Amino acid sequence: MAKPHAQRLTGLGVSPGYAIGRAWLLDRTLKIPRYHIDADEVAAQQARFGDAVGQAEAQIEEIRRSLEEAGDEHGLILEAHQLMLRDTTLTEGVCQAIEQKQINAEWALQKVVRGLKQMFDHIEDEYFRERRADIGFVGDRLMRILVGSGQAALSQIDAGAIVIAQDLSPADTALLDRSAVLGFATDGGGKTSHTAIMARQLELPAVVALESVTEQVGTGDTVIIDGVQGQVLVNPDPETLAHYRRLQREFMQRKAQLDRQAQAPAITADGLSITVRGNIEGTGEAASAQAAGAEGVGLFRTEYLFMNRDVLPDLETQRLAYETVLRTAGAGGATIRTLDVGGDKFIESLKRHEELNPVMGLRAIRFCLQQQDLFRTQLEALLRAAPAGALRIMVPLISGLEEVDAVQALVADVRAGLEAQGVTVPPVPLGIMIELPSAAALADVLAEHVDFFSIGTNDLIQYTLAIDRANEQVAHLYRPLHPAVLRQLEFVVRAAGAAGIPVAMCGEMAGDPFYVPVLLGLGLRELSMNPAAVPAVKAVCRALDSGACRALYQELRGLHRADEVRARLVEWWIDADLGDRLPPEIHDVQHRRA
Ligand code: PEP
Ligand code: MG
Repeated sequence: MAKPHAQRLTGLGVSPGYAIGRAWLLDRTLKIPRYHIDADEVAAQQARFGDAVGQAEAQIEEIRRSLEEAGDEHGLILEAHQLMLRDTTLTEGVCQAIEQKQINAEWALQKVVRGLKQMFDHIEDEYFRERRADIGFVGDRLMRILVGSGQAALSQIDAGAIVIAQDLSPADTALLDRSAVLGFATDGGGKTSHTAIMARQLELPAVVALESVTEQVGTGDTVIIDGVQGQVLVNPDPETLAHYRRLQREFMQRKAQLDRQAQAPAITADGLSITVRGNIEGTGEAASAQAAGAEGVGLFRTEYLFMNRDVLPDLETQRLAYETVLRTAGAGGATIRTLDVGGDKFIESLKRHEELNPVMGLRAIRFCLQQQDLFRTQLEALLRAAPAGALRIMVPLISGLEEVDAVQALVADVRAGLEAQGVTVPPVPLGIMIELPSAAALADVLAEHVDFFSIGTNDLIQYTLAIDRANEQVAHLYRPLHPAVLRQLEFVVRAAGAAGIPVAMCGEMAGDPFYVPVLLGLGLRELSMNPAAVPAVKAVCRALDSGACRALYQELRGLHRADEVRARLVEWWIDADLGDRLPPEIHDVQHRRA
């Protein structure tokens, strides 16, 4: 019988590379046994439960430690879970239920957890209602230990496994035996989901947003993860396997070659120096970005400090986080962006109202100017951390001068308050993201009032073309090379130049080698990106001639259709006579785009 062809599932490739291995399905559906027991079995069931509590404590402690080592801030939430495990309402409640109702430990746990959750449901106070989630988490962990599945097995994955899951929480990911796991594929998640971030950090190929991979794949199936194209191939035939083994080998060779030169500066063939920085989401990533060749941090998305936790990070927690980033970012310093909550970046503990269209809603600086206490705390933490390194504060989603005025007044006020307490605060450049068409149109005005610009193409393209960046249906219309986008970029770069302020780009466009000649041609000299993209972008910069890039841009600006611009850029890459300077990555770029 002929072997089946590979079944191909398409999702979002969030961490590049290829992994080939055996599927390991993380099945979260627990079958909870429920039965009555005799009086002489009560002690044994209570002892089982006691053991489970001990094991859960040990597991949480282990996860907390590994998160801390990785510089991840989610450890705090786990402390709350440890406290809950020691709370007698839960532990004695279960032991009593076993005895009084004469039921097994799992059933008793289920009843007690349900009762506690209901109790929290009826408390008005938001803080206490949020404790409900902790009860669920702790109850689930205890149940998995009692039933003997799930979490315990996560640390005992067979070598060469591809983890297939509905989603992976930070705690799950920390528990994984990293030396055994080759890649991830999940039903849920997006480019900025924690799974995606972790996968990139660990350099594990990953595809997310597959919707039903957990239904299509079973444990033991042979699976290929194509993190470049965002595909998962299930039970591939020998030719497909051989094809992907070759792609994998080539990818690793290219990567090793690029990594060897990652620390070399990005100086173009004609001697122009390009600053290449890293975008980070967690404090621990500043050091790894530097190791990947980044010259400092060009964007720290601080909203990640606020995610996945029940209690907002206080002044001290934030100050420590910012100091860590500043100390580990290297001489290039760090551009720390104030809270960009809202839109697709949902933070449970900050949720105020349902919004029909959150991307156009109360997000980023609009939210911060409304919640000024929260914003002041962040500004104070930033200013207190400033002596630790070269800090630049950046404000997201600025639409016009009023917001700049408001932010500057707040910063001045917070600074004055600190100085009145005798705290010395060094001068800190205050810049803005250019990611709204209104800000781009006003760039000449704004440039006179701020210390620097950083162009956020992810949002700028979304709002310019009215294309929801997270909507699969219109993804093909999301065009960085649209003439309307290029005109805005040109205007912004010129405005910054005329005012004598630095302008960087930190949207995804900056991290794609394909666009780099256009960006240099536009006059950009500072690019910030996912640290994994740094070696390739630096290599491309070294191979390019800035004069040729300028000539290319002059040609492109005369084209009136996005497709024409793109086609011309593909042609340019193919024709570019870059000789020996052409790194293998550029060949890949050509083949991918042609
Ligand atoms: C952007 O919009 O380009 C950007 C860098 O910000 P974020 O992706 O965090 O919205
Ligand atoms: Mg943005």
